[in-house]
Amino acid sequence: MIPYGRQNITQEDIDSVINVLQGDFLTQGPAVPAFEKSLCDITTAHYAIATTNATSALHLACLALNVGPSSRVWTSTISFVASANCARYCGANIDFIDVDANSGNMSITSLKEKLADAKINSTLPNVVIPVHLAGTSCDMQQIHALSLEYNFAIIEDASHAVGGLFQGKMIGSCQYSDITVFSFHPVKIITTAEGGMALTNKNDLAEKMQHLRSHGVTRDEQLMTEDSHGAWYYQQLSLGFNYRMTDMQAALGISQSKRLTEIINKRRSIAQNYHRLLSELEIDLPSLATMGKDDSAWHLFIIRLKDQSKRAMVFNKLRKAEIWVNVHYIPIHTQPYYQELGFNWGDYPQAEDFYSRIISLPMYPELTLIQQEFIAEVLREALLN
Ligand SMILES: *Cc1c(COP(=O)(O)O)cnc(C)c1O
Repeated sequence: MIPYGRQNITQEDIDSVINVLQGDFLTQGPAVPAFEKSLCDITTAHYAIATTNATSALHLACLALNVGPSSRVWTSTISFVASANCARYCGANIDFIDVDANSGNMSITSLKEKLADAKINSTLPNVVIPVHLAGTSCDMQQIHALSLEYNFAIIEDASHAVGGLFQGKMIGSCQYSDITVFSFHPVKIITTAEGGMALTNKNDLAEKMQHLRSHGVTRDEQLMTEDSHGAWYYQQLSLGFNYRMTDMQAALGISQSKRLTEIINKRRSIAQNYHRLLSELEIDLPSLATMGKDDSAWHLFIIRLKDQSKRAMVFNKLRKAEIWVNVHYIPIHTQPYYQELGFNWGDYPQAEDFYSRIISLPMYPELTLIQQEFIAEVLREALLN
């Protein structure tokens, strides 16, 4: 079976986890801050907060930006449900933006139109969460310019995109956002098994996220409401969570992040191979044209069938050949939970059209050229039907 995504684990990764297991701290030791520092070094972000997963990092990001029951949060409907759920955890109203037909990223045209309408109706969003689908950055410069015009905060859901570039800067630099979130789930670019991270350049947001990651508890006497009772004393100042990453996970993350460039280069060459092998087929391929100042992290390789009526058939033929393709994503607004909130099929036509055509081909560092040739052959035959 060829999966659509898979972790890349070396002996060095294994040794670094064993090292933690034999040491003094399984959690709350030195590995988590060291992992956070390595991601700050890679991205140039000033602060990084490692978490249990990207879902909890998105939740902390919303809380740090004061998202609550009276807030409005907008995200892309072509994403994993976590991009929207984080707003619902805070009780906020969620709304969706349609996507660009080629990239599947948040459509700037749709965002502009929706903002203009929302201004008239006094329903402007407090936070917008662009999602860098498959590892390709949204147009953050434009979204940032709109945030200044309409006064909203930005969380980048970069769960797919650690190692990618936008305008020559690493995704995660937060040049055009308040907070950027990464996922380290095994199918993503680098892994800590479960794991995530929130990055920011803003000290106040970093402090809030750190505080809420660990029960809303502080040992800082300056923040306490009464004199410390002694060295054991702590105070809970707000209702936080236990969203901490373990040191075992962080050690794996440190080891993985050392190979980030190598992993991205491998993924990029797999994308180039697919372009060569698939260029004659009746499908649209993800653009390689962004290579240079903007580089995808190539988390996913999403093809779009020109004839959407063939999607299920082609998908099934690939699966039958043990090629474990997938679909990213079912539009969030069509999920029953979101339909209950009032969304319906038909609300976001470009996203629904995109969904009806897409298949994610296998994409991970250990995928071989021979496997890619096999995938291309099965795909070519399936499309002839
Ligand atoms: C994977 C993913 C998440 C959630 O990541 P976890 O680390 O599994 O919580 C959120 N958003 C997007 C776009 C994702 O792909």
